[in-house]
Amino acid sequence: MTRVVVVGSGMGGLAAAARLSTQGHQVLVVEKSSTYGGKLARLEQDGFVFDTGPSLLTLPAVYRDLFVKTALRRRGASLEDNVDLVAVDPAFHYRFPDGTEVSVPNASRSGTANALDEALGPGAGGQWTALIDHAAAVWQVTRTPFLERPLTGPMDLVRKSIRVRDLRTVAPLTSLRRIGRRYLTDPRLRMMLDRYATYTGSDPRRAPAALVVVPYIEQTFGAWHIGGGLADLARAIYERCVERGIEFRFDAPVTQVLIDGTKASGVVLADGQRLAADIVVANIDATHLYRDLVPLEHSGSALGRLRGATASSSAFTMMLAVRGRTPDLAHHNVLFPADYDAEFDAMFGSSLSPVADPAVYVCAPDDPRMRPDDDHQGLFVMVNAPRHVAAADDPNTAAGPGVDWRAPGLSQAYADRVLQVLAARGLDLRERLLWRHVRTPADLEAATGSPGGSIYGTSSNGPRAAFLRPANQSPVAGLFLVGGSAHPGGGLPLVGMSAEIVAGLIGPA
Ligand SMILES: Cc1cc2nc3c(=O)[nH]c(=O)nc-3n(C[C@H](O)[C@H](O)[C@H](O)COP(=O)(O)OP(=O)(O)OC[C@H]3O[C@@H](n4cnc5c(N)ncnc54)[C@H](O)[C@@H]3O)c2cc1C
Repeated sequence: MTRVVVVGSGMGGLAAAARLSTQGHQVLVVEKSSTYGGKLARLEQDGFVFDTGPSLLTLPAVYRDLFVKTALRRRGASLEDNVDLVAVDPAFHYRFPDGTEVSVPNASRSGTANALDEALGPGAGGQWTALIDHAAAVWQVTRTPFLERPLTGPMDLVRKSIRVRDLRTVAPLTSLRRIGRRYLTDPRLRMMLDRYATYTGSDPRRAPAALVVVPYIEQTFGAWHIGGGLADLARAIYERCVERGIEFRFDAPVTQVLIDGTKASGVVLADGQRLAADIVVANIDATHLYRDLVPLEHSGSALGRLRGATASSSAFTMMLAVRGRTPDLAHHNVLFPADYDAEFDAMFGSSLSPVADPAVYVCAPDDPRMRPDDDHQGLFVMVNAPRHVAAADDPNTAAGPGVDWRAPGLSQAYADRVLQVLAARGLDLRERLLWRHVRTPADLEAATGSPGGSIYGTSSNGPRAAFLRPANQSPVAGLFLVGGSAHPGGGLPLVGMSAEIVAGLIGPA
């Protein structure tokens, strides 16, 4: 039996652990914090329950597959047996700077087209549908070779897209912004599309046109909630792992990956304990792995590639406990600014700063399990934010451009600013606010070990971005990477897919 140590119990680590155990490996998960889930975390206080990370589940098929494939018995095997999966309808409600609003129904092409025609004017629905048709073709071409299989080297991408017609469909040198311009004339539709670049922490002006698959996936396979909060998905996979006999050690930060010759042979914990392993699977951010845990002589080329990429953006979030309910809010709401490009300049331009007039996402789940009673409501508010880079004297911080989110007074002043922005866009919550929890990119970095609080490791900015994303197999034999900073990318579906890829690379015990 092979001994596998999984470093980190985020969704990638949990999913990989469950799959590897099913393949007959003896699995131990070591986690620096006191619980599982990583970024898929929750906050509970005074009867309010908040998802502090993901609040939208797409492509649940990835987790359906995980539950069925890792079950010990048929009864209680499925995803739906283990969590309360709920379709969210409407999927999204958008408010544009000119005051127009549109509710996009869940998983309905014609419904979406009609809603767009009605809200934005005749023809808008047709333009969006044409874009989604194009996205469907990109999905067909990219899904298996790029998302479901490992990336074994830079030339791999080229080899895999060798068919010229497929290359033309993917348009690797075109940006998401440009493909939007090709299909959409209405600036509001273009804003809707641009926002999907932020699902990979990227700038639509530099992210590849292939990201058009993100709205396609959302619209085709639906937008989902999990009763009680999305973090319940982490609970369910953790329980599946425990049921399979996987051992967990919490409050156990790993400080080093042991390498014997050229092969990974275990890990060292912060208290000096050495844990021997035949295989190490790192679910931690790839930069943290290669910069901090693997000796430079083994990590050099991988680290060099990472340093050549732009880090993904982070998020500034607020958990708001509110008196009363807000009937005109849908489950997922986006309130756009007048100048959306100013947001991307603030995050990826030459001088980074908190976004002065950001697009604001408000998640208002109508879920009785997430509020103390029907007279109160918990709202999750998120705006995109540049990553955290602390003052030069802090040794534990990311290098490169960013904002010092620990600067005195900044986080609370910015929280006030975001509430003011919401009020200016017609959603004034200030009078009804009981309390708020504020989380900056610095807090995200501290909680999850992602340098600067970057949510997705490296961004998709630039045509070379896919080449710079770390592969699942490291340069060190027996050391694998799973999770949002490695191939194929971040977000719950891709992280789940990366676990499947890693389990496939390692194979049965
Ligand atoms: C605010 C926010 C909103 C998001 N919204 C969505 C959404 O709506 N939909 C969606 O699909 N995705 C969303 N995401 C992205 C999604 O959360 C991530 O892509 C995914 O959860 C990442 O999982 P992971 O397994 O890669 O890593 P992580 O969740 O980062 O887990 C890594 C784990 O490793 C541990 N660790 C780190 N260093 C060490 C060490 N040295 N030793 C031991 N353990 C260590 C960490 O504590 C953590 O538990 C969001 C993320 C954030 C932050």
